[in-house]
Amino acid sequence: MELYELTIKQLSDMLKKKQISAVEVTRSVLDRIDKLEPALGCYITIVAEKALQDAENVQKDIDNGTLRSPLAGIPMAVKDNICTEGIPTTCASKMLSNFKPPYNATVIRKLYDNGAILLGKLNMDEFAMGSSTETSYFKKTRNPWNVERVPGGSSGGSAAAVASGEAIYSLASDTGGSLRQPASFCGVVGLKPTYGSVSRYGLIACASSFDQIGPITKDVTDCALVLNAITGRDEKDSTSANIEHPDYTKFLINDVKGLKIGIASEFIGDLLDKEVQKAFIDAVDVLKKLGAECEEISLPSLKNALPVYCILAFAEASSNLGRYDGVKYGYRAKEYKDLEDMYRRTRSEGFGPEVKRRILLGTYALSAEQYDKYYKKALQVRRMICDEFNDAFKKYDIILYPTTPDTAFKFGTMTKEPMQMYKHDILTMPANIAGLPAITVPCGFDSNNLPVGLQMLSKPFGEGKLLQAAYTFEQNTEFRNSRPCLS
Ligand code: GLN
Repeated sequence: MELYELTIKQLSDMLKKKQISAVEVTRSVLDRIDKLEPALGCYITIVAEKALQDAENVQKDIDNGTLRSPLAGIPMAVKDNICTEGIPTTCASKMLSNFKPPYNATVIRKLYDNGAILLGKLNMDEFAMGSSTETSYFKKTRNPWNVERVPGGSSGGSAAAVASGEAIYSLASDTGGSLRQPASFCGVVGLKPTYGSVSRYGLIACASSFDQIGPITKDVTDCALVLNAITGRDEKDSTSANIEHPDYTKFLINDVKGLKIGIASEFIGDLLDKEVQKAFIDAVDVLKKLGAECEEISLPSLKNALPVYCILAFAEASSNLGRYDGVKYGYRAKEYKDLEDMYRRTRSEGFGPEVKRRILLGTYALSAEQYDKYYKKALQVRRMICDEFNDAFKKYDIILYPTTPDTAFKFGTMTKEPMQMYKHDILTMPANIAGLPAITVPCGFDSNNLPVGLQMLSKPFGEGKLLQAAYTFEQNTEFRNSRPCLS
C-alpha cells in the first residue's frame, strides 16, 4: 500500500513507531497530487514547498516528544473559504481571487497546534453556493469514481481530494449539506458538527446561522480524531458553545444494541432514486441485525425545509456578501465613474450568476414590504422544525435517512435549473436548520458504481452517539475498503 492510501490513524501509528517520517508521507501525497490533479482538479492553491518545510519541522517536534497529537505530521487540505494566513483564500470567486488573509481561522490555528501539514486550498462552489462545485470561478472538480460526474458541492474539492488520496483528510463547511453531500457522492465520511461546536472565526460567511466547519475523512475513526482537534469554545466566535467536549475517540465502540433509531418516513420512498432506496433499506437491515431498534417516524415539518432554507440562508447570505464593495479588500472594477458606479461594477463583475441570484432573492425577502411574509414566516417554521426534532429525540437516539436522493450526477444536468439543484439538498438542509450534528457514511453503490451515503442525525452535541452508530455500521460492512480505481 502507498502512504497516501492510508488513514490518519494508520499513518500516525507508523510515525510514532518511526517506520516513516512526516516528510515521506507529505511527499507521497504531493506526488499523488501531481499525478491526479490534471484529471481531477481538487485544488485551487497548492503550497508544496511550505508543506515539505512544515513536515520537516513537525518531524523534529515528534522526535523530541513535544508533539504527540495523532494529527502530527499528517498532510491535509482545507476548503478555500477557510482563512489561511498569507495563503490565498478565494471562496472560488473572482471577488476574492487576490485575497490573502492576514490571519488564520481558529480551526487552522488548532490544526497547526496539532502538527497538521497543510497542502493547499480546495475547490468549491463560489461562496459555498451550489451542490456540484460547478459555480467555481476557477475550475471543474471531477468525481474520482467517474470523471464524467460532479463530485457534489459546495465542498467538491474537499471530498474528491480525500477519496482520491490527494489529501489524507480535509476540512469543509456545511450550510445546507455542502460537506455531507459531496462526501456521500465521493464515498467518504463527513461530519457536520452541532452548530456552535466548532468555531466559525475565519470561515468566510455564507449563511451565519447555518454554517459549520467539519471534517471529511476516509473512515469514522479519523473523523473522531479530527473532531477532537477542532471543537471547543472560542472567544472570537460568540456563537461557539461553552461546553466541555468529550474525547470523541471514546465513542468508537462497535455496538448498537438497544440504540433507538427513527427513520423519517417523509424522506424515504418516492423521493429517492430506486437504487439509493435499496442501499438504504439494506443499511437499515444491517443496523437491525446488530441489535438497533429501528422504526419509522413521521416528521411532517421536514417538507418545509426547502423553502425555509431558501429564504433564511439566502437572506443571511445577501447581508453577509454586502461587505464585498471593492473598497476594503478583494476585487475592484478597473473603470468607474463615481463611488456608486464602482460598487455596481465591482459587484457585477466580481460575482457569478448563482451568487447574484441569491443576493437578489435574499435582499427581496428582507425588504420592508416582504419581511413579514417571507423572512419572519420562515423563522417561525424553522422553530417548528426544531421543535419536531426535539420531540423526536426524546424517544430516539438517532434519526436516519439517506444523505442524498440520488448519486453523483453528470456535469451540466442541473445548472440550468436552479430549483432542481436546491431540491437536491432536501435531505441535508434539515440538520442545518435545526443546528443538529449529522454524519454521512458510505452504505453502498448503485449500478454505475457510484457511492451511496447513509445519514445519521442526533440531538445537539450528540456527536458521540453518531460516531458510535456510524463506527459500528462501518465495522460491520465492507464499504470503507472500497476506493475509486485511479491510475
Ligand atoms: N448546496 C446547498 C446550497 O447551495 C448547500 C450549500 C452549503 O452547504 N454551503 O445552498
